[in-house]
Amino acid sequence: MRAGLFLKANHVEEGELDKPTVREGEALLKVSLAGICGTDMMIYSGKHPRAKAPLAMGHEFCGVVEEVRAGSDFAPGDRVVVEPTISCGVCEACKAGQFHVCRTLQLIGIDKHGGFAEYVAVPLNRLHRIPDSLSDEQAALTEPLAVAIHTVRRSALQVGNSVVILGAGPIGLLIGMIAKLSGAQDILISDISPYRLAKAKELGFISVNAAEEDVVAATMALTGGKGADVVFEVAGTQSTAQQMVEMIKIQGQIVVVSVFKTPPAIDLAKMHFKEISLTTTRCYSSSDFTAAIQMMASGKIDLSTLISHQLELSEITYGFELMKNSEVSLKVLIKP
Ligand SMILES: [Zn+2]
Ligand SMILES: [Zn+2]
Repeated sequence: MRAGLFLKANHVEEGELDKPTVREGEALLKVSLAGICGTDMMIYSGKHPRAKAPLAMGHEFCGVVEEVRAGSDFAPGDRVVVEPTISCGVCEACKAGQFHVCRTLQLIGIDKHGGFAEYVAVPLNRLHRIPDSLSDEQAALTEPLAVAIHTVRRSALQVGNSVVILGAGPIGLLIGMIAKLSGAQDILISDISPYRLAKAKELGFISVNAAEEDVVAATMALTGGKGADVVFEVAGTQSTAQQMVEMIKIQGQIVVVSVFKTPPAIDLAKMHFKEISLTTTRCYSSSDFTAAIQMMASGKIDLSTLISHQLELSEITYGFELMKNSEVSLKVLIKP
């Protein structure tokens, strides 16, 4: 079968893989759409600690059941979206029901072949049915939306709060959309990409270009000098790590969503004097995933505006080039 393969650092191209054979407890999916994510870009850059070439990446995907053993809840032809996390089931986190922080958590598309391929074999318990009212395009965004839902659920956000989001990529924008639905009053989003800031503005957020404007001063002006109630850090840079501490209000909460490639220097003394809470967040639980599907299917949230490109599998090299440039791309979907 055809697959988009990560072969070495900065090199992804169309190639061939053996079509997977279905084992007990699995279904074979014909992939409909698969999104390119920041994590895929980390693998592409050659810096991911676990991913090994050759690999069909892609952990944000939906498809149609092609083959499944009799007696399962699913049948050929069912439209499904994949919750890509695979937990061990025996570590202390798994025993406590916190499967998403499993000690040896693996992801389909990172630790094994994923959605940038014509077919993928997936454990049945990782499948979620796609309601008829939900398009494949939106269903392919379930995973990043689940990240945003999990992130906001991890925060102490309350109705009427002021929120700052550092980073206007797909995850930053999705967090803004969920924070708005959760009752946040003012939502300020910063970035250095005019393209992404225009998208933030279109979605109704206050957008600040950090290359031209002082984001901390803008936050202080917005909050009457108090600082933001909650700051979501979604950029993963030294400057945003510094800004988050300066713009947070006394006893406010910082939620670090980014996976920092290099450890930033953070002013812990400043955090001490303001008694700041710092929270991290990882992946999503199955209930976050289900909530994401329901929110989109019921029309509460429409993510189609985040899709900047839909490309054929043969164009996957171009797709990764597009993703390198935040001036021209947001969410790129591949159609295997
Ligand atoms: Zn992702
Ligand atoms: Zn585990």
